[in-house]
Amino acid sequence: MKILLKDILFEEIERQWDESVDDANALFNVEPHNTIKMIEPFHVIMKLYRIGDNVDIRGRYTGRLEFVCDRCCEKAIKNLEESFHYILQPKKNDEESIEEGDEELEIGYYEGDEIDLSELAIEHLMLSIPIKMLCKDDCKGICPYCGENKNEYECDCDKKKGYSNPFAILKN
Ligand SMILES: [Zn+2]
Ligand SMILES: [Zn+2]
Repeated sequence: MKILLKDILFEEIERQWDESVDDANALFNVEPHNTIKMIEPFHVIMKLYRIGDNVDIRGRYTGRLEFVCDRCCEKAIKNLEESFHYILQPKKNDEESIEEGDEELEIGYYEGDEIDLSELAIEHLMLSIPIKMLCKDDCKGICPYCGENKNEYECDCDKKKGYSNPFAILKN
């Protein structure tokens, strides 16, 4: 979804669309061992208005991610609901400094007479992905001794470590 600068008015306008997941997934797949895949639908709503040459954009999107949990290695799905607030300024070549806004307000730049709204949403999505993707916050992971998924089975390997090596049985 792109919008011409001249179509952004001083009064707030709204754009809503279903974004294809292809571009987001292409970016996830840049990472060699990526397991994250966005699944449909990826719905975006943006509200925009102009303040002089600057554009105020409030966005919200919902989507679903399919991934392999970093701790227990099970497939999981996470529902996304994110929002952001950007102020875009026209890019000037002599002005390289990036202004710091408060935490929720980001200052960005646009070039030319068109703004790529899809790119903004996908960029925010990429930044919102945590380094570790977990199936749930308190995922217990896999037991290093017996290999059980500890979310499903409470083994007692921690208590009896001597019993821990699965190859120990071969000695008998
Ligand atoms: Zn997990
Ligand atoms: Zn165990």
